[in-house]
Amino acid sequence: MLDVNKIRNDFPILSQKAYNKPLVYLDNGATTQKPQFVLDKINKFYSSQNSNIHRGAHYLSEQATAEYEKARLTIKQFVNANHLHEIIFTKGTTDSINLVAFSYGEKFVNEGDEILVSEMEHHSNIVPWQLLCERKNATLKVIPINDAGELIMSEFEKLINKNTKLVAVTHVSNTLGTINPIKEIIRVAHKNNVPVLIDGAQGIQHTKVNVQELDCDFYAFSGHKIYAETGIGILYGKEKYLNSMPPYQGGGNMVDIVSFEKTTYNELPHKFEAGTTNFGGAISLSAALQYISNIGIDKISEYELDLLNYATEKLSEIEGLVIYGTANNKSSAISFLLDGIHHYDVGVMLDKTGVAVRTGTHCNQPLMKRLGITGTVRASFSFYNTKEEVDILCNSINRVKQIFS
Ligand code: PMP
Repeated sequence: MLDVNKIRNDFPILSQKAYNKPLVYLDNGATTQKPQFVLDKINKFYSSQNSNIHRGAHYLSEQATAEYEKARLTIKQFVNANHLHEIIFTKGTTDSINLVAFSYGEKFVNEGDEILVSEMEHHSNIVPWQLLCERKNATLKVIPINDAGELIMSEFEKLINKNTKLVAVTHVSNTLGTINPIKEIIRVAHKNNVPVLIDGAQGIQHTKVNVQELDCDFYAFSGHKIYAETGIGILYGKEKYLNSMPPYQGGGNMVDIVSFEKTTYNELPHKFEAGTTNFGGAISLSAALQYISNIGIDKISEYELDLLNYATEKLSEIEGLVIYGTANNKSSAISFLLDGIHHYDVGVMLDKTGVAVRTGTHCNQPLMKRLGITGTVRASFSFYNTKEEVDILCNSINRVKQIFS
């Protein structure tokens, strides 16, 4: 079993107090805290290796370039990609999805085509496709969910057809916590010759991701949600697609020969890494993945599932509390509402007890419409959270209830 006390000591921020109370950080779906191991790596990089990558012919530049490319290798191994050049550094999940929506869209999507997303998608996995559909006169189609917050697979199979050019679904719902059956989605899509993009923003930090085993065509995630810095993210893409897609942004590094008459482009992965990338962020992401690998992603999943089950049980005991998202297969987020109390008020009052949760629509406005609500309170967990913290959350919720009654 995972030694949570030891792990908590790895995260300096967790020992802080909020309003003189122990900080209970349950907003990990929004962003995660950083272990000392990652902070030290960032410090070391900027203290002794910092220089722009791929450009200078000097000592520091060579070191920085080597670290950056070593980071790409760590990420390739973490997701088990087939090729190193299938790992593209981006700014984050949003940036990765926009890259595919623009570039894949330019090449493969035409008037009358369809893109399939689901009803539980984050705005980041809706709006880029809407922009593409507007540009190309294509149509966005939506896979519905049932009342438990699971995709209705039979509807998905009905929606996919010869006009479908891409399926884009989330691995794990940031609001409902649902783990989608992505392997089955990919199988069905491929049977119809349709590629699949997985939004892994809430998946990669909680469960083992093996892109070759999944056979996904694209997998996007953010560094800041997996214990690394913000402003760095990954797009994994199959070589066959990335090679045939045009560049997303123009600038330095993504070119081969530039002239006013004609410019030719660099090879993968550089073709998609225009300008100075967040190389410091890439190194922090590599460190974060090493940190996780040392603990073991399977151990993390097991611990987080046990914590989720405990939290679900305890929260369900609170009268007047309704949980949104009751899928059979769930990951580390619980959304709820308290009878008669606005979600924002609950969040503000929990905060005063040292408990950090998120309230609102969670960038899921279409999902909120489906649920018939204006927002939820969301507690989202990491492997550094404890059952004692869940108890504090529940006690604080009971106090909020008392005050409002
Ligand atoms: N998709 C999902 C499911 C998310 O939870 C988030 C972040 N809340 C995003 C996409 C966007 O991630 P980022 O803001 O890091 O680009």
